[in-house]
Amino acid sequence: MRIGIDCDGVLRDLIPDIVGLIKEKHPEHADKILTPESWDWEDWLPFWTEDEAETFIFEENSEKLFGRDSTPIKEALEDWDILKSWAIKNGHELVLVSAQREHCKDITREFLDKNGFIFDEYNFTKEKWSIDVDVLIDDSPEKLEIFDKRSVAYGRPICMRQTWNTESQKKYMTIDRLSDLTTRVFG
Ligand SMILES: [Mg+2]
Repeated sequence: MRIGIDCDGVLRDLIPDIVGLIKEKHPEHADKILTPESWDWEDWLPFWTEDEAETFIFEENSEKLFGRDSTPIKEALEDWDILKSWAIKNGHELVLVSAQREHCKDITREFLDKNGFIFDEYNFTKEKWSIDVDVLIDDSPEKLEIFDKRSVAYGRPICMRQTWNTESQKKYMTIDRLSDLTTRVFG
């Protein structure tokens, strides 16, 4: 089995890092940040236009948010060795499937390496459905839905539970942490 795994929202704690950075650099907006319920910035960063949010996240702070020292999700770190041993034992491949912007690809790879998230294969693409994987673990409602419809391998989407994907949790098999794969999904 080829197991596709997303980065942001599955391995990296991007959203809390964005919230923390806004509070630090723009304290005037601190109490206006809402609970993220989508990947649309305007929905939970109502004080900024989409362009302003994109500038803050992907231009002014890309190194901090996507670089070597960005923050791993604690449970993902705890679970990685369990997942890796299970994959080796059962002959599964772990395949990174991450939609990073051009200037964030190399630094994301540095983040993965630093935290020991070592994959059998690395794919940086927005067209996740085009990667030949049997399942895709992702947090993005949009990515899960498109993968479900178009996956070249007729792969199955698996939702990583987050506050912004409650609708996806009703539609797809949903996990709380990576080690659930070794028990609930394929156990
Ligand atoms: Mg993601």
